[in-house]
Parts: sequence; C-alpha cells; structure tokens
Amino acid sequence: MKKPFVTKEQIEEIVKTYPTPFHIYDEKGIRENARKLKQAFSWNKGYKEYFAVKATPNPTILKILKEEGCGTDCSSYTELLMSERVGVTGQDIMFSANDTPAEDIELAAKLGAIINLDDYTHIDFVDEICGIPETICCRYNPGGTFLISNTIMDNPGDAKYGMTKEQLFKAYTRLKEMGAKRFGVHAFLASNTVTNEYYPKLAKILFELAVEIKKKTGISLSFINLSGGIGVPYTPDKEPNDILAIGEGVHKAFDEVLVPAGLGDISIFTELGRFMLAPYGHLVTKAIHEKHIHKEYIGVDACAVNLMRPAMYGAYHHITVLGKENEPCDHTYDITGSLCENNDKFAIDRKLPKIDKGDYLVIHDAGAHGFAMGYNYNGRLKSAELLLCQDGSIKQIRRAETPEDYFATLEGYWDV
Ligand SMILES: *Cc1c(COP(=O)(O)O)cnc(C)c1O
Repeated sequence: MKKPFVTKEQIEEIVKTYPTPFHIYDEKGIRENARKLKQAFSWNKGYKEYFAVKATPNPTILKILKEEGCGTDCSSYTELLMSERVGVTGQDIMFSANDTPAEDIELAAKLGAIINLDDYTHIDFVDEICGIPETICCRYNPGGTFLISNTIMDNPGDAKYGMTKEQLFKAYTRLKEMGAKRFGVHAFLASNTVTNEYYPKLAKILFELAVEIKKKTGISLSFINLSGGIGVPYTPDKEPNDILAIGEGVHKAFDEVLVPAGLGDISIFTELGRFMLAPYGHLVTKAIHEKHIHKEYIGVDACAVNLMRPAMYGAYHHITVLGKENEPCDHTYDITGSLCENNDKFAIDRKLPKIDKGDYLVIHDAGAHGFAMGYNYNGRLKSAELLLCQDGSIKQIRRAETPEDYFATLEGYWDV
C-alpha cells in the first residue's frame, strides 16, 4: 500500500492559498532518506552524494540536500548557475554532461567543478577551453548488455554515453601528461533499478577496472562515481530498495577487489536523483470532469505538462483518491489531462474508488523527473512547487507560471 504523506484535510487547507495542481515535497522524508544513504556508505571515508539536479531543479530542495552533506551533479549551464546560487561550488559539483557546449565547460571550470569527460575527443575540447584541470573524471561505457542474474537490466551498447575501455586507458595516460593529478571513473549502466544488486554489481565492474587502470597506466584513481540508477518502486507490489544492504554490497566488493590491490583509499561518489526525491513528491490534482463514452474518464486539472512520465514512457504512477483511501477500488477509469494528445493520461484502466468531481487525487512518486520534465505544449502552464516543512507548515518554493511567463519570450515580437 502506498500512503500519501498528506491527508485530505491538509490539502483542503492548502488549496485555500495554493490552488491545484501543484507538486508538494516532504522535507522530513527527504532528510531521513538522505541520512540513511550517508549511513549506508559511512564505511567509505571520502563518500559523497552529488544530487542529480535534473531530477528536481529547485533551490530549496538543493539547500535541504546541501544541509545533509550532498553536492550537486549538473549537466547544463543553467543547472550550474542554480548550484552556484545555492552555494554549492568547487569540487562539490560534479559536471556530468554529454554533447556538451563550450560555454558549459567554461562555467564548470570557472566554478571549479569536477568535469566528467564523456568522450576521448573531449580532452582536446576541454583543453582548448580552460586547460586540463588537476582533478578530472572519465565516463566509461562497457558496451554489450548489462545483466543481473541473467536478466537484461539495460543496453550500454546502445547508449550514447561514455568511452570504451581502450579509450579510457589512453585518456588517463594523456590526461596525466597534460597535468591532471587526481582521476576518477564514472559509469551509469542501468536506470531505475529496483534490486539491491545493481550498485554492488556496477561497483565490482568499476573496481576491477580501477585495478586494470593501475596495471596499464600506473594511475591510482582517487574516486569512483557510481552515478544514478537506484530506483524506486512505482507500483505498490514492488519492494523498495534497501539502501543499507546496497551500501554493504558495495563495501564487500570494495574489500574484495580494491583493498587487496592497494587501492583502499578510493572515495565512492554517487549521483542519485530518483532515489533521493521521487517518493517524497506528490502531484496533487483535482477531478474537474467525468465523462462516460466508450470508457469511463475522469478529467483532472493537471496534465502531462506537470508530469510527463506516463505520457512519455507509459510509466505507472500510483494514484490515491484523498479521503477514499479505505474505499473499495471497484471502478475502472482513465485519468486524463487536458492536452490535445490522447497519451495525456495519468492512468489507463485503473481500478480506483468511485471518483466525484471535486475529489483530490495524489499522484505518487512525482518528486523526481516530475516537475522537471515539464513543458508548455498547448499553452499549458507549469504548476507551483510546495514544501511540507518538518514542522508541518507549508512553504511555496516555486510559484506557478502565469500567461506573462509564457509570453515573456515574445515581448517585442508582437508587431514584427
Ligand atoms: C540522470 C542522471 C543521474 C540521476 O539518475 P537517477 O536515475 O535519477 O538516479 C545521475 N547521473 C547522470 C549522469 C545522469 O544523467
């Protein structure tokens, strides 16, 4: 059972000030989870989580995570600017971009971020822009398929990211010649994994690679970045990941592979996004229409602009009808948004309690890759973001867009 972190009574109070739709985040949940992650990796002296800003690009969220000891993982110019403005700079930023524009590299270098090179050719690209920094990271792509217990988790061979192993060896040697002093490796091989085995398996691959790098180039890595990919159970039947077990799994691989090779000083970094925020964000929306044609439809005041994952990937997001948590799910609905796109449905053929106009729906696990993916199709505007603070109060942390925001880029162009 997925239980919302807000009640019907709370939402009825909140909407007096902030009308639906909105995203609401649970500060307490975010902090407790971040602390648990830190605990899971406390065996590693240099451990640090660089929160993937793209998952939830909101300054208040970044500040909360900063207070919990997290840095930022940025992949664009504006994400770097946001990180700087919340006071996360220098080596507390991991810049993991791909197909990167020169001005992004320039800003990353100016902020002193750790630059993660996506390709061998980026050595010269970065060198021309800012010179090779003393600390540098390379992204690895082993190719093929990524298996856990004979199940295909993902296809690195089809992924545009990273370098081959041979390129990686050449890259470290070259970077050292060019003045680099501290080196790291990074890989992201499977997304939204709901198994405690992903990180330990990935870690073992990267730890063995670190030993090989040492043998082939004489370079001892300073850090290994396990990147993102730890997922959350979007469907209620799945068990959530056990981060303490995951941390222990990585610890075991570390002791088996790195320590005997004399590489026991390597710091472990992570760049989690979804795991840090997804469960701690709800999209709250109101049922405004019901429609009975060939199927039963409930129209809500949110749409794919507020949460794109169902429309984009057919992703499942659990829905709770507030105040009807204990009623039988004896109705079958498509829950739709207003876009002129038939894929604008938050749920298809979903068993839910009877929904009446005016009911509030909580769409779960919308805290990461939710608001962030928003767009403005059909002239629809992005919603507000609210924070349920630890003391139970509500703080708006981003206002909703207005038509003026939508028209801002047209100022001066009405009479061209
Ligand atoms: C998207 C991304 C992440 C975060 O991924 P999650 O699935 O949200 O954990 C981390 N690192 C890089 C380079 C990414 O592109």
